[in-house]
Amino acid sequence: MYYTMQMVLFIISQCIMKEERLRSIEEMGEFGLIEHLTKDARNIQDTTIKGIGDDAAVIGQGDDCQVVTTDMLVEGIHFDLMYTPLKHLGYKSVVVNLSDVYAMNAVPRQVTVSVAISGKFSVEALEQFYEGVYAACKQYGVDLVGGDTTASVTGMMISVTALGTAAQKEIIYRDGAKVNNLVCVTGDLGAAYMGLQVLEREKKVFEEDSSIQPKLGDYEYVVGRFLKPDIRVETLLKLRELDIRPTSMIDISDGLSSELLHICKQSDCGVVIYQDKLPVTMEVNLAAAEFQIEPLIPALNGGEDYEILFTIPLSAHDKVKSIPGVSIIGNITEHKGKAIMMTGDGSAISLQAQGWQAYGN
Ligand code: ADP
Ligand code: MG
Repeated sequence: MYYTMQMVLFIISQCIMKEERLRSIEEMGEFGLIEHLTKDARNIQDTTIKGIGDDAAVIGQGDDCQVVTTDMLVEGIHFDLMYTPLKHLGYKSVVVNLSDVYAMNAVPRQVTVSVAISGKFSVEALEQFYEGVYAACKQYGVDLVGGDTTASVTGMMISVTALGTAAQKEIIYRDGAKVNNLVCVTGDLGAAYMGLQVLEREKKVFEEDSSIQPKLGDYEYVVGRFLKPDIRVETLLKLRELDIRPTSMIDISDGLSSELLHICKQSDCGVVIYQDKLPVTMEVNLAAAEFQIEPLIPALNGGEDYEILFTIPLSAHDKVKSIPGVSIIGNITEHKGKAIMMTGDGSAISLQAQGWQAYGN
């Protein structure tokens, strides 16, 4: 097509106007961005039982269904190869996806693993990564059924998709919490965040003097929780065994506060938790003291713990109490969208969402 000078000037002026209206992703934040990008998604398939908005999508017909979830890990954003063994990375890449399957109360069955790699990686390096992938598949009884392999300009990117199955009536969403339900969490909180702090510190020391070997001995637990997370499958099985059906469920990838707010938003309710009920281990307290961090910060906003947060009817209190490794941390309230923590001295703190806030430049 032939453009006149007027047309060219018009197009440029339109571009400039658009430029002025450009919004920064940073300001929007992760959750705002996802909401914005997906607001026009409309499901037209009868088999799409749940689309965007939970830990996994639910697809099916009749009594049974499949859940599907994808997570991406990017070098320099989610992992640093200075202190992340590739085998651990392979393991973690699979586990973080299986965590979303379990958070729907489904059983994971298959994964696909896609990798983009730059020229700096050797075949041996990728073999190590896959050793970790296979170890996770073995541990959780899932099959590696496909993926994709491609080049990248710099660094490594990993995208894993996990598939799981469940009877449709067994699926637990984020939106089922009811007023007066008890809020429970598996395991303990904040360790992965403290593990990351330790690894970052040792990296700095090593960068300044490469003859100094990292000292990780005292921090085995927290570092292990960051590098090689595992899911409390036993605890989830115990819930089934005791016939406890949680009313809502989510896994803790972005921090307790964020996940509580997701439950509040989707279940149209509020929540109150109690500081003295939060499961924080001695290891986290010690590491936090050393880093002069208030242990509440990793516990509330640390993320990457991959514990399961769930709500149960008040009537299940005694049964849940009998399960080792589950803490009852609070209850659901009618104050819509309000997530509050009561501190030891009786003051109320409003919980804030996390999620990543910024892209690098
Ligand atoms: P999780 O932390 O459990 O992995 P996310 O916060 O990453 O969940 O995602 C929340 C929901 O938004 C999920 O249903 C996910 O599939 C969906 N989602 C995230 N990013 C996109 C995207 N770019 N396009 C479509 N859906 C997305
Ligand atoms: Mg999740």
